[in-house]
Amino acid sequence: MSKVYDVIILGGGPAGLSAGLYAGRARLSTLMIEKLTEGGQIVTTNEIENYPGGMEHESGPSLIARMVEQCKKFGVETIKTTVTEVQLEGDIKTVTAGGNTYQAKTIMVATGANPRPIGCTGESDYIGQGVSFCATCDGAFFEDLDIYVVGGGDSAVEEALYLTRFGRKVTIIHRRDELRAAKYLQEQAFANDKIEFMWDSTVTEIGGDEVVQKMTVENLKTGEKTEIVASDEDGAFGIFVFVGLIPNSDIFQGKLDMENGYIITNENMETNIKGVFAIGDIRVKMLRQVVTAAADGAIAAIMADKYISGH
Ligand code: NAP
Repeated sequence: MSKVYDVIILGGGPAGLSAGLYAGRARLSTLMIEKLTEGGQIVTTNEIENYPGGMEHESGPSLIARMVEQCKKFGVETIKTTVTEVQLEGDIKTVTAGGNTYQAKTIMVATGANPRPIGCTGESDYIGQGVSFCATCDGAFFEDLDIYVVGGGDSAVEEALYLTRFGRKVTIIHRRDELRAAKYLQEQAFANDKIEFMWDSTVTEIGGDEVVQKMTVENLKTGEKTEIVASDEDGAFGIFVFVGLIPNSDIFQGKLDMENGYIITNENMETNIKGVFAIGDIRVKMLRQVVTAAADGAIAAIMADKYISGH
């Protein structure tokens, strides 16, 4: 009979790591399963300005590295593999990952979300060849070139600001004439000489030889199409896509109650199945930030402890 953990955490982003810290400190035997490296989306962020008490110029990777150390300190075991199946009903839940089966009294779903593609012609052919979803990873490839950022939310504006370090000019292409991003980010973007805007616009086609060299942008109000072509001298430009997220919830479909692919919880992070919690970006919530993910993880760990001990 294999070990029955108190807690299995699926996903090692800020929510999962916070749950690990709190579960570990409560002396719950805890296993975290993460398919890549810990951190989730925040590792693609160069600077975190809004984590309370965070250090100045704190990057996503540096904050995550300290969270990982805290989990280790309190005995959280980690394996790096992909979860393929879950059985959530009953007192003992099972998780199949990497061909092995793991058992636990409680499960925390912290699988987060992935970047959403624009969905236009040619986009998928040029990923890594001029189309990117990560400014921190790929910004430096576009030193002194033109950079286009698609989207109007916090990610688009925050990353556009970061990309001004590299690009000659950064143009935000947004489908409306008003940004969704937080006001403090908007103020910084409007004040930045290197940032321009294409309002009411969407990218309909991306093309080029080996790398992105041209794209078509359509004005949604007038229907006018603009072809943007890299000069011979430049030979390329960059397109950074930040048009929202797709929740990683496929394996929970039909098992957990959801809304648009996000898992529904109550304020204690409890799902419709006893002993199963959802935390961080994967759950239905208003504000998706490191601070709210960390809070979710803490609450779920405390509730898991209460559930296991029957209090
Ligand atoms: P988001 O808030 O969902 O914004 C997505 C943006 O992309 C919106 O402006 C949306 O336009 C646009 N869009 C959506 N689908 C599109 C399409 N098919 N084509 C063109 N444009 C499209 O996503 P996000 O910016 O990635 O942020 C995700 C979550 O993380 C949010 O909760 C955000 O607050 C949070 N976040 C916080 C911070 C921070 O606190 N510093 C940083 C990054 C992210 P409309 O506006 O017209 O809908």
